[in-house]
Amino acid sequence: MIRFLDLHSINARQQGAILAAITRVLDSGQYLQGNELAQFEIAFGRYCGASHCVGVGSGLDALSLTLQAWIQLGLVQPGDEVIVPGNTFIATILAITHSALRPVLVDPDPATHNLGVEGISGAISGRTRVILPVHLYGRMADMDAIMTLSRKHDLLVLEDAAQAHGAKINGRMAGNWGHAAAFSFYPAKNLGSLGDAGAVTTSDASLADMVRLLGNYGAREKYKSSVSGCNSRMDEIQAAVLREKLQSLDDETAHRRKIARIYGESITLPGLKLPEQIASHAWHLYVVQCRDRDRLRADLDSAGIETMIHYPVPPHLQEVYADSDLANTGLAVTEQLSNEVMSLPIGSHLDDGDVHRVCRVLNSLAT
Ligand SMILES: *Cc1c(COP(=O)(O)O)cnc(C)c1O
Repeated sequence: MIRFLDLHSINARQQGAILAAITRVLDSGQYLQGNELAQFEIAFGRYCGASHCVGVGSGLDALSLTLQAWIQLGLVQPGDEVIVPGNTFIATILAITHSALRPVLVDPDPATHNLGVEGISGAISGRTRVILPVHLYGRMADMDAIMTLSRKHDLLVLEDAAQAHGAKINGRMAGNWGHAAAFSFYPAKNLGSLGDAGAVTTSDASLADMVRLLGNYGAREKYKSSVSGCNSRMDEIQAAVLREKLQSLDDETAHRRKIARIYGESITLPGLKLPEQIASHAWHLYVVQCRDRDRLRADLDSAGIETMIHYPVPPHLQEVYADSDLANTGLAVTEQLSNEVMSLPIGSHLDDGDVHRVCRVLNSLAT
């Protein structure tokens, strides 16, 4: 059986360091807002090239708290529009609707599966305040062009970098392009904790300060709340584990790139569209496209190869938005992708032999 993902095997390779990190926290007696979080924030901010990093409870919270912080700072008004790709994980959209903002869903560029500047330009209205590109699958959106467009229209840019730890364009990391970026450290992400965790990176000190305030009951000092906040903090155990795992992130990414290269060079099945091999990609997912996706998936499953679909139902067709305007958005590319994409196994739980086996099995199937 070749598993899509094997978190136990991935974390077992660093078991000693992880156990030492957890013991360090246990012994410290400080389980929230201590030195581990402070050190991780410095290290991850530096890794991304952003001057501030704020640890929060999850990737969803990183997105929501950034939008809410901009509202608190008066840069965004409730009811303003946020331009966002239609083909993303539901959390990206929930963050917008939870923040009393209006998502304007845009079909992605079919070649990159990411938001393109043409799509964004066509969606800009008098109420647009934010562009929220998602670096889907670990492939960065065209940030240079998006930032140029944002300057022209005086818009804020929030990167959803939940899948893109370590991705970079021209040496500039994901998380250091927009006015802010949201990361998730959900266990299955490229940099994963042992539970829920997330972070906001930004070079705007007042935004970082407001995100931290909102995630801590709106209180800068204990028992003195100045804004209507919530409780969303990265705990010391997650921070300590992430500090250890950050040190091997580049090796993990290199391993993913190698797997992607093998897939790219060895898969020859006609009718199967492979992702473009580009240097900036962090390969959170290796996503292929095929008209006969469901049958191919079943054949792979019979051959002992596990695959996944990211994502089978796009946000605008989810029940949660059935009664909203979103349900009526026609998103032909997004809907086609949800029927045709399939993610092959990728990650450090696989060796070259496993990857070549996936290629051999795929090449032996007919579409
Ligand atoms: C995982 C993910 C999120 C949400 O992160 P959580 O930590 O699970 O809340 C948001 N956006 C994208 C694109 C994701 O993949």
